[in-house]
Amino acid sequence: MTDTNSMPAGGIMAIPGQIDPVPVPRAAVVDGVTPRADGRVDLMGLPRKRIAELFEQAGLDTKAAKLRAKQVFHWLYHRGVTRFEAMTDIAKTMRPWLEDRFVIGRPDIVEAQHSTDGTRKWLLRTADGHDFEMVFIPDADRGTLCVSSQVGCTLNCRFCHTGTMRLVRNLTVGEIVGQVMLARDALGEWPKGGGTMAGLDDEEDEGGYSADGRLLTNIVMMGMGEPLYNFDNVRDALKIVMDGDGLALSKRRITLSTSGVVPKMALCGEEIGVNLAVSLHAVTKDVRDEIVPINKKYGIEELLQACADYPGASNARRITFEYVMLKDKNDSDEDARELVRLLRHYNLPAKVNLIPFNPWPGAPYECSTPDRIRAFSNIVFEAGISAPVRTPRGRDIDAACGQLKTAAEKKSRAELERLYAEKEAELG
Ligand code: SAH
Ligand code: SF4
Repeated sequence: MTDTNSMPAGGIMAIPGQIDPVPVPRAAVVDGVTPRADGRVDLMGLPRKRIAELFEQAGLDTKAAKLRAKQVFHWLYHRGVTRFEAMTDIAKTMRPWLEDRFVIGRPDIVEAQHSTDGTRKWLLRTADGHDFEMVFIPDADRGTLCVSSQVGCTLNCRFCHTGTMRLVRNLTVGEIVGQVMLARDALGEWPKGGGTMAGLDDEEDEGGYSADGRLLTNIVMMGMGEPLYNFDNVRDALKIVMDGDGLALSKRRITLSTSGVVPKMALCGEEIGVNLAVSLHAVTKDVRDEIVPINKKYGIEELLQACADYPGASNARRITFEYVMLKDKNDSDEDARELVRLLRHYNLPAKVNLIPFNPWPGAPYECSTPDRIRAFSNIVFEAGISAPVRTPRGRDIDAACGQLKTAAEKKSRAELERLYAEKEAELG
């Protein structure tokens, strides 16, 4: 954490979820709107209906407010414009009226980094001074944006750098959608006539790695934070991302990853409907309790049953099980066989993603050897379950899974142990 991460004005809130609430500072949001010093209202992250309400409150009649909201929504999320004067189908006299009362915000960019493998990472800052990160990973056939849901994380998976951040705040809807908007800005992907490149590095991206001509084709909620502990904001943000008149990304191209917040999983399927990834990482109670401590609250059996019940899961839409490879911890042949047994027992339409552990300063684990990872993968593959080994991306800029942590302060092992103990006490 940087010292800019001071407590915002909003005071303390409890992260929603059935798990014992953890006190975290709250963004001062009122009815979806974060107050600004200049009194104008930031429309970023608001749905059509709320925009219409605000226009009506500002003086338009109901019908005009509805029409203008529809137009503005389209300009905001489909065209990516950040100034009302660019909204050419809105009367010229109306545009300054809007400009006086409203803004179209983006998170501030503190730093933009480019990995030698093409991965890009942005350090972003909220209006109240909290830093968080987003990562773009280009591949031959797709471009994936890894989006954060919280500043830090209240959970403390032992292998994850984000879990060592003490301060946590839920990101607002605008800050979550804002990441996708910024990525589109940076990639120059808005339809002609819209968008702004202000504040972004102007490096050219080579195109050609997207089947449909787009660079940003997929979104994974796998950045900082536990998305199911910020359920409402993540849901509302993804609704805008999926809106046909907004960012228009298919739910099939969006994956939400959870460490296993069981009570929210069905709701995620019902209300958001995106693909599910589950951070399983271990197949025995002892080991999962140690490395993914939320396991003490919701055990493996309960978690896998919730996966079996996940709305929309099928052989065509499999659940991804993430499994980080930790040397001598969870990587034996026996672990692989138990993984197969569990996935079969719950009859899960599953694929397994084997993630080589990405190290960070002070991390208490090592990555399994390549031979070990291959042997593990083979056992799962031979049982008929896909188990590719994920190639780490952006390691040189600390953009790989689990390396995200803003302004990485170096903590000693003893300090880390103390922090873990504190967080675990909060978990109950
Ligand atoms: N909180 C959510 C989503 C963010 S983490 C979750 O835990 O699922 C995204 C993925 O990166 C998770 O599977 C997480 O377990 C994994 N991860 C965390 N730290 C890692 C590390 N150091 N090396 C490799 N993967 C890691
Ligand atoms: Fe939080 Fe996910 Fe990291 Fe665990 S792995 S500490 S849930 S971000």
